[in-house]
Amino acid sequence: MNYLPIIGIEIHVQLRTKTKMFCGCSASIWKAEPNTHVCPVCLGLPGALPVMNKKAIGQVIKMGLALDCEINHSTYFERKNYFYPDLPKGYQISQHRAPLCINGQLSVDDTLIRISDVHLEEDTGKSVHKKGATDNQESATRGNYSLLDFNKSGIPLMEIVSAPDIYSADQAVKYCKSIQQIVRSLNISDADIEKGQMRFEVNISLREVKDEELPNYRVEIKNLNSFKFVKKVIEYETKRQTKAFEQGKKLIQETRGFDEDKEITVSQREKEAAHDYRYFPEPDLPPLEISETEIEKLKNEIPELPYQAIERLVNAGLKAKDAEIIVQKQKVDYLDNCVIAGFNIKEASLVIIHKPNLTSRYGPQDLRNHLQGKRESVVEDTNKLESIIIKVITENPKTVRDFQTGKEKSLQFLIGQVMKETKGKANPRKTSVLLQKHLT
Ligand SMILES: [Zn+2]
Repeated sequence: MNYLPIIGIEIHVQLRTKTKMFCGCSASIWKAEPNTHVCPVCLGLPGALPVMNKKAIGQVIKMGLALDCEINHSTYFERKNYFYPDLPKGYQISQHRAPLCINGQLSVDDTLIRISDVHLEEDTGKSVHKKGATDNQESATRGNYSLLDFNKSGIPLMEIVSAPDIYSADQAVKYCKSIQQIVRSLNISDADIEKGQMRFEVNISLREVKDEELPNYRVEIKNLNSFKFVKKVIEYETKRQTKAFEQGKKLIQETRGFDEDKEITVSQREKEAAHDYRYFPEPDLPPLEISETEIEKLKNEIPELPYQAIERLVNAGLKAKDAEIIVQKQKVDYLDNCVIAGFNIKEASLVIIHKPNLTSRYGPQDLRNHLQGKRESVVEDTNKLESIIIKVITENPKTVRDFQTGKEKSLQFLIGQVMKETKGKANPRKTSVLLQKHLT
């Protein structure tokens, strides 16, 4: 039987704010000593009251607007109750019934992926698992143990939830990369995966290709911290679930963890339903009212988005693939400035794509001067070019004979040799003309 993976993805992005979501602790925690960015609020001490970080709310609304979402004018935070050592309060402040943004969409390779919602919550702390000393070693610790770092606790976390509209590992990765690009262009997070600022959760089930309905189970794999793992997990689960179906097994709703070393998933627990979290409105925070004026103001702050830039560059004559690379490299502004400096857009795009060392060394105007200078230095000096051509002809008698007996391709080889001699500084057309003059 033929099965199709049905995939939904939840993406967590740590927002770039000066302070945490509900307290005044600094949110710059990268490489900070453990538990140095903490206070009674983010440690969940009794009596501490949260205060909302308005900046983070604006950032989430921007993301919602970029994803074509409707913005909820009246919303509120809720408590998501569960027990975990890295969650000192016993609940996480999140949004469940009234997310800030709902019903959006994003086109990935001409396929429309619906965005169910974009909402705001707070991050949790971090558990660090350690191996303790063995019985015959002198040490204060015995056996394995865990340490807790609460620096991350309370960092504003945006969650982007897609509908189950993704059907392959490649499409999933493209979707995740596209979200990363949008976040970066909105300047609301660095979305640096290495620093844990962007994390993925994959929901996957299989249905027979001919079926229309969604499967009645869902396997969730949390805490994936690279594009590569998203891809591996989907490939692995597609195989595992297909095999289970073929053996007549029934698949269940469950959460599985990804073993990064073995590249397999392992069952962790049967999935809890939303009601297990006993969501209720956060009593210590007022409800949120967002005015149309505020939304308009945020809309005006949104720059050209990656997918809009790609469309514009393609309309200006670039190949879609090249336009995508330019956007990925975040070189759209540079390219625009090259055009202003007098470059042909295609030529500038090729330099940006193939000569990154030049574009990192020179600004657009200097780049133009540099390239023109290079070209002119050889072009103007025809005598020098001719002497190199004669050298190449003398050193390659066989290829020369081949050309003279009608093997047109030999000319390309000779041009290549001239390019090598001049370290790419010769004008190819002029080289070709001069070569042919000397060969006939
Ligand atoms: Zn704090």
